[in-house]
Amino acid sequence: MKIRGIGRLRRAAARLKNRFAPGGLILLYHRVAEVPSDPFELCVKPRHFAEHLEVLKKHSYPVPLQQLVQAVQDRKSLNRSVAITFDDGYADNLYNAKPLLEQHNIPATVFVSTGYLEHERESWWDELERLLLQPGTLPKTLCLSINGNTYEWDLGEAAYYSEDAYQRHCTWTWCTPKEADPSPRQSLYRTLYQLLRPLVPNERQKLMDQIITWSGAESGSRSTHRFLSPEEVYALDQGSLIEVGAHTVSHPFLSTLSVAKQQYELQHSKTRLEEIIERPVNSFAYPHGDYTAETAALAREVGFVCACSTIPSKVRRNIDCFELPRLVVQDWDGEEFARQLSRWFYFQT
Ligand SMILES: [Zn+2]
Repeated sequence: MKIRGIGRLRRAAARLKNRFAPGGLILLYHRVAEVPSDPFELCVKPRHFAEHLEVLKKHSYPVPLQQLVQAVQDRKSLNRSVAITFDDGYADNLYNAKPLLEQHNIPATVFVSTGYLEHERESWWDELERLLLQPGTLPKTLCLSINGNTYEWDLGEAAYYSEDAYQRHCTWTWCTPKEADPSPRQSLYRTLYQLLRPLVPNERQKLMDQIITWSGAESGSRSTHRFLSPEEVYALDQGSLIEVGAHTVSHPFLSTLSVAKQQYELQHSKTRLEEIIERPVNSFAYPHGDYTAETAALAREVGFVCACSTIPSKVRRNIDCFELPRLVVQDWDGEEFARQLSRWFYFQT
């Protein structure tokens, strides 16, 4: 027999348990910036980030990630401890986030993918946005061979994308239901993202090169979408508030790689960052939150002290430090951020 409302009751009980159970939180940001088109909602506006820091000071105890990890290892109380983390290594972490963190004296860890450090290119997901979702004219048809399958897409009238259409559609995000895509440009972006995402980095890069050639655009990086350079990683690490952590070399889905390739991604990103900052790199974050038990064992083996996932949960005392949960933060204003935080820590908003 099915009792109506039992699922709802269970969810409410889980929410209450989360709110009142002791534990800390690790927040996951990517960028502190304001850009007109942000399909994956990676940006938190600087003014919103400043509001988040105010809320954290009022309702939690912001701590360095390594302090939280130490508390887990020592089985100490984590109550209301919050560690801030950033993934990928965008340059705005240095220019927009660090000054605000310093102003509020709040620590953070920045996980850097080292493959982007010396390249004058955007991440492949940003590059795809620049090629397909910015105004301009593209050839009508795109033909690609991916994993032995041949695909052909026809952009039709959307081969020409006007400034006006761009302005109307630039708030489009990946979460929009597919059937509500405002033009074939967004649909092609979605399809290509899904097809390219599972590929190994070399194959994906080859296809991105083909898409660039097809589009007639130049390669290179927009200043708004730039990644940190080695000098900027060094600058980010200066002072006592920011910890630099590793996030692999090429930002792959680690579970799809052989053990040897996973080991290279973990070890090489650690070594490269240690060369730059001239001290040990202890923290790691799995790109896309993707890992297996083998990956976690490798992270321990190469000498990391902890590794972060993207499983949204509280950090409790009995947690495995190589499966640390994190909550993705969106571009909420201070009020909404406080409301979201109050789902995990009990306080009146
Ligand atoms: Zn990432």
